[in-house]
Amino acid sequence: MSKGLLHHIELNVSDLKESVQFWGWLLEELGYSVYQKWDRGQSWILAHTYIVFVQTDNRFLEDGYHRRRIGLNHLAFHGESKEHIDEITEELIARGVAILYLDKHPYAGGVDHYAVFFEDPDRIKVEIVASNGN
Ligand SMILES: [Zn+2]
Repeated sequence: MSKGLLHHIELNVSDLKESVQFWGWLLEELGYSVYQKWDRGQSWILAHTYIVFVQTDNRFLEDGYHRRRIGLNHLAFHGESKEHIDEITEELIARGVAILYLDKHPYAGGVDHYAVFFEDPDRIKVEIVASNGN
């Protein structure tokens, strides 16, 4: 049934506490719930997919993350509707999160693509897309 769908994604983060605060709100807004929790990590699950955040070891912190380098560029999630994207956008702004591509928002991904783009605390780009186009 879920063959081929993502089983889980694991992201190393520079500051677990900060990431948990940021992602906890966002993922719960998207329907995820807390799945696993331990001193150096936390995960959220939705249906058959979970997302794990793990504190990066000190010795690897200085290399940082950059989405223009090799590796992950961004994560995109289905939102519910255009109104849902607008609600999330407002909440992000209220939380002091910078919205990317503001000049083209909410059509930065194209005229048929209603979405909001922003960055997580490590500047991993996140995109939430209105799923049903209304
Ligand atoms: Zn995308």
